[in-house]
Amino acid sequence: MRPRQLGEIRLARVLETEGPEWLPQALIPQATPENLAPHRHWLMPNIIDPATGMLIMATQSYVVRTRHHTILIDTCVGEHKPRSYHASWNMRSGTRYLADLAALGVQPEAVDFVMCTHLHPDHVGWNTRLVDGRWVPTFPNARYVFARAEYDFWEAKARRDPKKFADGSIIDSVLPVVAAGRAVMVGTDHALDDQVWLEPSHGHTPGHCSVRLASQGRNAVMSGDLIHSPVQCAHPEWSSAGCFDKAQSARTRIEFLNRYAESDTLVLTAHFPTPSVGYVVREGNAFRFRFDA
Ligand SMILES: [Zn+2]
Repeated sequence: MRPRQLGEIRLARVLETEGPEWLPQALIPQATPENLAPHRHWLMPNIIDPATGMLIMATQSYVVRTRHHTILIDTCVGEHKPRSYHASWNMRSGTRYLADLAALGVQPEAVDFVMCTHLHPDHVGWNTRLVDGRWVPTFPNARYVFARAEYDFWEAKARRDPKKFADGSIIDSVLPVVAAGRAVMVGTDHALDDQVWLEPSHGHTPGHCSVRLASQGRNAVMSGDLIHSPVQCAHPEWSSAGCFDKAQSARTRIEFLNRYAESDTLVLTAHFPTPSVGYVVREGNAFRFRFDA
């Protein structure tokens, strides 16, 4: 996505990584070769990589600058984090994430709010960084906005077994923020102000939220992981293997696609390939994603 204006809001993104990342069926169990066959003509080469057969996926943060605040939505995988479930997330280092943020004119000190759609490892990583062997908030002046329902769910699980449930991400990327006194626990419909608010979209995780933006009659929504790939526009009933409640996730996705289809609301996705943003349009009994560079 190119940087753009949404009314008074300035929108940009920082792309941490992009490339072939998952075999479709590994991420979305119903996306078998047979089920994808009717869609290959539009999936190749931009959504499925012809060389590997894998879904091309982005990991990114959206940078939202209102008149009052600089806000970061989701913080990718981060660096130096031990992760055992997904090899490319393990001990990542040498990314351009902070340099690319600085290139947008945003130093870590300038971030006022960090908003996490949910607390999976690829959405909280840059919440913290390693300094002298300790995890400290990367954005020292920011308030980190966590949905209370999401935090309580993961905190309880992490207390039982930190590795099993969130691959260590609660321990190294969420709890240090709370310990530093930078976290704000909110309801899943919390409004930061009249331009930025949470919209509950549970299912992928129990307290998953999307982030709505509006200014001067212009609208956008950061979906989070209620949808992972454009193939789910054609098959919104297909939930990802990582969804906590697959039935609820499907209901939420269908409701979201219905709500925003044929609207002027720009959808900022978490993982769709570049340009990653666009509009939902109806196609037959389902939907299609019209990318907007
Ligand atoms: Zn994700």
